[in-house]
Amino acid sequence: MSSSEEVSWISWFCGLRGYEFFCEVDEDYIQVKFNLTGLNVQPDEEREDNPNQSDLIEQAAEMLYGLIQARYILPNRGIAQMLEKYQQADFGYCPHVYCENQPMLPVGLSDIPGEAMVKLYCPKCMDVYTPESLRHHHTDGAYFGTGFPHMLFMVHPEYRPKRPASRFVPRSSLKWLNLLTPSLFSCSFGIYLRLIGGDWAQWLTLVIPALW
Ligand SMILES: [Zn+2]
Repeated sequence: MSSSEEVSWISWFCGLRGYEFFCEVDEDYIQVKFNLTGLNVQPDEEREDNPNQSDLIEQAAEMLYGLIQARYILPNRGIAQMLEKYQQADFGYCPHVYCENQPMLPVGLSDIPGEAMVKLYCPKCMDVYTPESLRHHHTDGAYFGTGFPHMLFMVHPEYRPKRPASRFVPRSSLKWLNLLTPSLFSCSFGIYLRLIGGDWAQWLTLVIPALW
């Protein structure tokens, strides 16, 4: 396969619907054998007669490319590409109200393929979310890695947003709690008086002179 064909395959692959989170790995990077050390993803040879062999090859190609990408986006060159996608909000916005449409970054919950699908990390509330679109629910999180967002902000701390200025406070619950507290206290104390055989009037005649 010629160089131009390889680049074409990468562009075609990254342009597929549902593969928008992927970035285009430089051809030069792939051609350096050292960068591929330990990546031995091949279709199962025992299944050569499998009528779905082309699907298996496709799956293996996707996994190989994903694992190459996971390495590629950690050095500077890959981070710069992902930073551009982040600034364009290609990965979507945080659904948290107080994050005010903060762009997110893809992250894996595991570095081992097949363990968890890709999630989105919000650098503002520092939480992770499931991608909104179903077409991203089948992308392996290992293709981005568990440390990618943190590495990006370590290299480019100037892009790390500040924490949200406000946070949600469940006011209505507190209001009801404040209203209920005196009632709960008097109710409990009434039960206590009944148990000891006293009443409110008796208790007041004892306590008020003592306080006076
Ligand atoms: Zn957020």
